Order: sequence, then structure tokens, then C-alpha cells
Amino acid sequence: MQLEVPQASGDAPDMDLKTLNITVCGGGIAGMASALALAQRGASVTVLERAPALEEVGAGLQVGPNGMAVLEALGLKDKIRALGTQPEAVELVDHRRGQRLMRVPLGGAAEQRWGRPYLNLHRADLLSVLAEAVQAAGVTVRLGTTVAGRKPNAVLLEDGTTLAADLIVAADGVRSALRKRMWQGEEVRFTGQVAWRALVSAERLGGWEMPRYTLLTLGPGKHVVLYRLREGALINVVAVEERETWVEEGWSIPGDPDELRRRFAGWNPVVERVLSAVESTYQWGLFEHPVLQHWVEDEVVLIGDAAHPMLPFLAQGAVMALEDAWVLADSLARERDLPSSLARYQTLRHPRGTRVQSQAARQARLYHARGPLRPGLHLGMSLVNSLLPDFAPRRFDWLYGMDVTA
Ligand code: FAD
Repeated sequence: MQLEVPQASGDAPDMDLKTLNITVCGGGIAGMASALALAQRGASVTVLERAPALEEVGAGLQVGPNGMAVLEALGLKDKIRALGTQPEAVELVDHRRGQRLMRVPLGGAAEQRWGRPYLNLHRADLLSVLAEAVQAAGVTVRLGTTVAGRKPNAVLLEDGTTLAADLIVAADGVRSALRKRMWQGEEVRFTGQVAWRALVSAERLGGWEMPRYTLLTLGPGKHVVLYRLREGALINVVAVEERETWVEEGWSIPGDPDELRRRFAGWNPVVERVLSAVESTYQWGLFEHPVLQHWVEDEVVLIGDAAHPMLPFLAQGAVMALEDAWVLADSLARERDLPSSLARYQTLRHPRGTRVQSQAARQARLYHARGPLRPGLHLGMSLVNSLLPDFAPRRFDWLYGMDVTA
């Protein structure tokens, strides 16, 4: 599946990317991928990252075939494939007995259907591959540099100084300072859901092996996702529960492993076994952000979570950041000037980013069904899975089958 590209401006580009001075705010996945894609097209790029070192949280990421298309086009195919773990499938099971409700084949089937593998990656592995490539491409990375806002054609830093920029790429994540300036008074709503994350070393499982598929266990108002990372040396845990107490949006809140175990006590043996080995955990409050009407203002463009913060239920936030990065750089290389490049980026990305954002929010209702609705829903899933095995993979064709680089 390819992008439906809007009518080109018709003129040959008279903007030379090599003369553009681009500042990328944020050195996460969106920031690094866009810096790389832009530098590969000859732009002069500086990344400003507030953290003193380039690092990601200790957690996994599922990268669907649509994200792999971008990583391949960036020239990172071999490195990423060597670091990734390919799950055989994703299985949706019931929380008590672990009864299978649905199985979506991945592994070779994903590659065949969507053209690229579906991989699980350690976040730090992905970021270090991107960071290495960014440095090799000649990008300047300024660590320990916090962006406070913008002035015309300049980024305003926290220390009061400014940095001139022809283009400002706001890749500063879910709590983007630049988005806040563009959209003052944005109404953000706590969804009443909290995600716990943990990484479990396989060595702590006494010889027991995690299945080679991603296990998605559904309970009333809760779900748990487990998958292998680094060829099974680690198991990634994401456990989501509905709760009234508010928790901050970000991984800064340490959780108590015993509380995590208590909240998911009595779940199927695979979940209990993995949770029994958790040594440390963090919590992230899940918030719903409104869909922004536009992501571009003058020379500022939002990408990644800064543009479309989404709930994690489709495992596509980072993948959308990769797609954004590619399309932004490609638009700048194709169009005749900055305004038409940014307009092209917005036209191509806004419908898709917002569709994924709203689908991810809807997914929670399916995962967390309670009461009399639940048995019927689960029965329906099992029946569809056995009678129409192509139904579930087909539902994801629009998402995983997209290749924004084609
Ligand atoms: P971030 O990763 O947040 O990066 C922003 C960067 O900007 C950071 O380095 C930050 O330090 C820096 N920064 C912030 N403010 C400033 C400032 N003022 N000045 C300078 N620097 C600044 N996505 C997937 O694709 N697959 C998954 O399996 C998946 N699982 C998830 C599970 C959970 C529980 C959660 C919560 C999310 C999950 N996501 C997943 C979503 C994914 O983590 C995000 O969408 C992705 O990290 C967004 O990348 P980003 O670069 O836009 O933002």
C-alpha cells in the first residue's frame, strides 16, 4: 500500500535542503529518525535534547512492518533485524484459564502479508542504532539542552538564549513545550488507566521459557502484554489497569512489584509466573489528548508524540513517529519551498496519525470489556478466529501494509 500523494506543486524544487538550517527539538525516536532522514538529504541538522545522555527507558517496543519500512529506507535494515526478535504470532487469551480467543499470525506470515517483519526491539537498542547513524550522517547533537519555546525563526532555550533556525522540528514528546505554545489550553483527560512496565530477565524464570509469541491477556478492566526481547533473554511486561487514582504521564513513577502482583493475582499461570519474577517496575498514567487541527505553524512542525500523543493499545506511537520523520524529510526534498513542504507533510500525515490515535483509544474498550458483554465478546472472537482466520490480519492491512517510503 502506498501513500496517496497530493497534487505536486508542479514546479521543480528551488529550495536547496543543503542551505536549510534545521533544529530538531527532542532526541527520542521521532527526533533521531527525522534528523537522520533530513541529514541523508543534505540538510544541516542540530538535535537539542534535554537529557544529559541519549538514553531510553528499559522497555520493549513492538515495531510493525510499516515501521520497518522506514527503518529499512533509512539504511538500518541489517542492524535492526539483528537486534530484533520476531514473534510467531500475537495471541489474545482469557485472564483466568488462558483460553485462546484469537491468534494473529506474525513471523513469516507478517512478512508475506505486509512485506516486512513485525519485530520486538529493546527501546535502547533502537535508539542507539539511530543515534549512531545520526552521528555518522554529520548531525550535531546537543545534550543537556532544554527547549523552552520559540521566537520567529529561532528556538528559545531554557537558559534564555536563542538559536536561529529556518525550520524547527518539534519532536519533544507527549508533553511537548512547543505544542503547548501552539495549542494553549489543550484539554487533556486522565483515562482512568495506568500502565505498569517491567523487564524480566529470563534467568529469573528457573528454566521456564516464555512462548515465542506475544501474549495479550484480557481481563475485566485490565490487560497484560508479554513478549520476548533480545531472543528471549528478556521478557517485556506491560500491564494496564483501570484505576481512579491519577498517575503522572511519563515513566518517572516507580511502582511496587508486590502491588503489581496483587493487582493481577489469580491470572493465568504464564502471567503469574512472569510477574513473580519482576524486580522493579514503573507506572505511566494514560491520558487522552484531543486531536489537533494542524501540526504546522510558520516554521514549526510537530512530529511523533508531540503531534499525536496516543494510547499504547495499538503499539504504534513510535512507529507513527518513524513514518512522520520519513514523510517530513521527503516532503522537504520534493517541494519548492518551506510552506508547501510543510503543507504536504500535514496533508499526508494528519489523517493517518489521527486515525491511529482514535483507533488506539477504541481498542481499550475491546480489551477491557466487563460484565455480561464480556462472555459474548470473547465467544465472538473465538468463533471468528476459527471460522474466518483471515479476519483479524485483514483488519490490520491499512495499518501494517502502508509503506510511506514507496
Ligand atoms: P519521546 O520518546 O517522548 O521523545 C521525546 C524526547 O524529547 C525525549 O528524549 C525527551 O527527553 C526530549 N524532550 C522533551 N522535552 C524537551 C525539551 N523541552 N527540550 C529538549 N528535549 C526535550 N509505540 C510503538 O510503536 N510500539 C510499542 O510497542 C509501544 N508501546 C508502548 C507502551 C507503553 C506503555 C507506552 C506508554 C507507549 C508505547 N508506545 C509504543 C509509544 C511510544 O513509546 C511513543 O509513541 C514514542 O516513544 C514517541 O516518540 P517521540 O520521539 O515522539 O517522543
